[in-house]
Amino acid sequence: MAGLEGKTAVVTGASSGIGAAIAQALKDNDVRVAGGARRADRLETDIALELDVTDPASCERFVADAVQQLGGLDILVNNAGLGLGRDPFDKSTEQDEETVLETNVHGVLRMTRLCLPHLRDGGHIVNMGSIAGRQAYENAAVYVASKYAVRGFTYALREDLLGRPIHLTTVDPGLVETNFSRVRFRGDEEKANAVYAGVEAVRPQDVADCVIFVLTRPPHVNIDELVVKALAQSTPVRIVRDA
Ligand code: NAP
Repeated sequence: MAGLEGKTAVVTGASSGIGAAIAQALKDNDVRVAGGARRADRLETDIALELDVTDPASCERFVADAVQQLGGLDILVNNAGLGLGRDPFDKSTEQDEETVLETNVHGVLRMTRLCLPHLRDGGHIVNMGSIAGRQAYENAAVYVASKYAVRGFTYALREDLLGRPIHLTTVDPGLVETNFSRVRFRGDEEKANAVYAGVEAVRPQDVADCVIFVLTRPPHVNIDELVVKALAQSTPVRIVRDA
């Protein structure tokens, strides 16, 4: 098992949910973390920097500052992401499509392109995918498209990196209880709470454990993908709930 002590990491979307839990787990494993998010005041990372992954200039600034303060980079966790709405596609808007694709897809491409030149040998890129990137479900076309893109990008990048000492993994969770649904339903607490009603969802810390697992395999091993769901969930929409 490879140790993480003394390594450095960038975690995008570290101000909440899964990203915050990953940043904490890395810290607990003696990794120095630069966290990024638009709400930089909510970051509890060693280095806390404002980051909007939809903005190329913000990403460039963030990567330059983070790498300089960390003194090099071993791990990039592309976690920032969101969904907007649960409506049939004919209700979709240009603006929502742009926000979701810019954040979930372009943000991952951009941050990967900017961080790659700084990644030290033995480095690791972890992309936060979703089971939505493996199986479509209704009224989520743009989010599903974005997460299929993340999965496609991960595999394409794996081909380009083949032969280089850089690991690459997509971690694909099912239902995780975070602020995701609050954001998706634009602050509608009732709709957000209904998503997690009557089911013990995966916790952000559970996903963070998975990330630590993929990061600590021996150097000659690459976990290409890791899928983690609540025991009571088999597909994006098939969930057994308490009556
Ligand atoms: P969350 O609690 O809402 O956290 C989302 C994070 O992304 C926040 O830290 C947010 O920070 C950040 N973010 C959003 N837009 C950003 C931008 N333009 N620039 C920088 N950061 C941005 O939701 P979460 O569930 O932890 O989501 C994290 C990832 O897990 C996402 O990629 C999501 O698709 C994926 N995922 C979630 C679930 C689930 O059920 N929750 C399942 C599968 C996959 P700011 O708002 O402060 O910028």
